[in-house]
Amino acid sequence: MMTPTGSGGVVVSAFGPSPFTCPRCDAPSAPSRDVQTCARCGGAFTLHAGAAHDASIVVPPPNALVPIVKVRSAGLATHHFGVIEPLGVAEGELDPIIASVAMDKSGVAWGDVVSIAVWRKPDWVELVVAILLAAPFALGFLVGSFALPVLFVVSVPLTLLTAWMIHRAVKVQRNYARIVGRYRTITIRFDRPGRRRRLFHSELLRRAGLPDAPIP
Ligand SMILES: [Zn+2]
Repeated sequence: MMTPTGSGGVVVSAFGPSPFTCPRCDAPSAPSRDVQTCARCGGAFTLHAGAAHDASIVVPPPNALVPIVKVRSAGLATHHFGVIEPLGVAEGELDPIIASVAMDKSGVAWGDVVSIAVWRKPDWVELVVAILLAAPFALGFLVGSFALPVLFVVSVPLTLLTAWMIHRAVKVQRNYARIVGRYRTITIRFDRPGRRRRLFHSELLRRAGLPDAPIP
């Protein structure tokens, strides 16, 4: 039935990763509904076989009434987006100035999905910003409020902001989905905005014809 390597005449891009590997270190792996721990790198991930690999997976018919789910993430100079549309899932880069015009876009149609892998990693950049910038400000205003009580009003939101940033960096983390298609492989970071994280993940699986699964 399902083997760790692409079988059944599935054409996989020679440039992308193998469809059934750990998305962290590319060690060979078998698809499973459950969260896996990589034997080589020890990282947690999920790996699902898609309709282009397993003929028993039925992709639901495209429904234009189901809302489009869009996520985006900012790098140092570029902004990336991921989008779930009626016909497929796509990722691309936004213009760096106003971050609203798609400069390029490449996608995988739902029926062409060979595998979907999901994993998370701590957001070290956000953690460093929280500890080096937000925390000292919060602490500074808190200490200052002993002398000048009005400063306490400022220290509360700053403390909450620091706690929220640390929560996001360490607990929510950066969430990634690697979608290996027949013709190309795309990777989407889907934890921003945070309110769409679970929706993006569950819609990604549902529209690929897969049962819902935990985010590892
Ligand atoms: Zn690994």
